Amino acid sequence: MNKYQQLIDSDRQNIWHPYSALGSDQPIFPVVSAHGVRLKLADDRELIDGMSSWWCAIHGYNHPQINQAITSQLTHMSHIMFGGLTHPPAVELAKTLVDITPSSLDSVFFSDSGSVAVEVAMKMAIQYWHDKQQPEKQAFLSLRSGYHGDTFGAMSVCDPVTGMHSLFNDALAQQFFIDAPTSEFSSPCNSSDLNNLQTALAKHHEKIAAFILEPVVQGAGGMRFYSADFLNQARSLCDQYNVLLVFDEIATGFGRTGKLFACEYSNIQADIMCIGKALTGGYLSLAATLTNREISHTISNGEPGVFMHGPTFMANPLACTAANASIKLLLESNWQDKISAIESWLKPSLEKCDSLKNVANVRVLGAIGVVECTHAVDMKKIQTAFVEKGVWIRPFGKLIYLMPPYIINQTDTEHLCNAIYEVLNNET
Ligand SMILES: *Cc1c(COP(=O)(O)O)cnc(C)c1O
Repeated sequence: MNKYQQLIDSDRQNIWHPYSALGSDQPIFPVVSAHGVRLKLADDRELIDGMSSWWCAIHGYNHPQINQAITSQLTHMSHIMFGGLTHPPAVELAKTLVDITPSSLDSVFFSDSGSVAVEVAMKMAIQYWHDKQQPEKQAFLSLRSGYHGDTFGAMSVCDPVTGMHSLFNDALAQQFFIDAPTSEFSSPCNSSDLNNLQTALAKHHEKIAAFILEPVVQGAGGMRFYSADFLNQARSLCDQYNVLLVFDEIATGFGRTGKLFACEYSNIQADIMCIGKALTGGYLSLAATLTNREISHTISNGEPGVFMHGPTFMANPLACTAANASIKLLLESNWQDKISAIESWLKPSLEKCDSLKNVANVRVLGAIGVVECTHAVDMKKIQTAFVEKGVWIRPFGKLIYLMPPYIINQTDTEHLCNAIYEVLNNET
């Protein structure tokens, strides 16, 4: 048996994949290396990557500068505990993050994954109100169609129906939800979105610690874009009702939408912000939760006077080094031009799909392109069809979307878009 098939057979015996069944008949593709925007399969086929490994690999794979930084850090230390110790990569990264995020955010808590960064944000909000003598503020307000991660706290603020977690509903903290904003990306916030938010806050603010949402782009909950002005309105209503505002920028951070952080489309700042995914350029798992002086000071001077969280691999030096190298690369590149170029390539090529009967909507923002179908796609068929066309695109539900590495060129971008058009066209 060849190596390709051996890997697949062995994988099927005992490995779970994300949201998968063990031993499922869904196709699985062994990758042996990745370079630039290409993944190389064990049978030597090459795929153009349209996913950036779930928003992460913004500089593509095997980038010489990030490789070099990590290799050099390896010769110093790969890990030390963060309790009572610190190290140069973490100090440098925290300083950079404070510099590049909105000005009021100046306290950084490192964790290992986006979901944990969200848990940390939720704990910060609860602990803050506890120390403000408002311990009844324990619940969260969130948007329908949102996605914030797979751990219990994060699950509780994901869309309660499509959030992939409804089976756990009875085990989850009960949160408050409002409909996802309908105000269009480039329009002012409409009155129904405003009313929904105002009504929920007016009714439940005494129980609500924070309003948590993904600014401007809702990712895994539906790939929806909405008005940045909604964020402006959310800020004033949260202030009015004594509710903290938490932005989950785990998917949108580091340039993907055309701004370094999507909240920069608005005029306001959140009290707490979560980042992850592209933070290390897709090299290692690292996330961070940032907050402002008011919150960090209140928690640090309250009771018990410490923030109650501390992961084993907190601020892993290799991961911090990768993040430092990745952010440096990003900031030193002409990333705004790259994102608008990708946007300008995605738009005409994806809009061709609009004419297909099985396509409901096509939308593009920054380096994100979405083709929403009229029905859920047949994953098994479509995944195989994409690979046969030499592209790596992984849809979910009705959504086929692209968020390629920023280093992609026009030819490869158009190849990705054409693959979507052809595969959907064959379906009809
Ligand atoms: C992916 C994602 C998360 C969860 O991050 P993990 O690293 O998968 O735990 C949380 N929020 C948003 C907006 C995400 O896109």
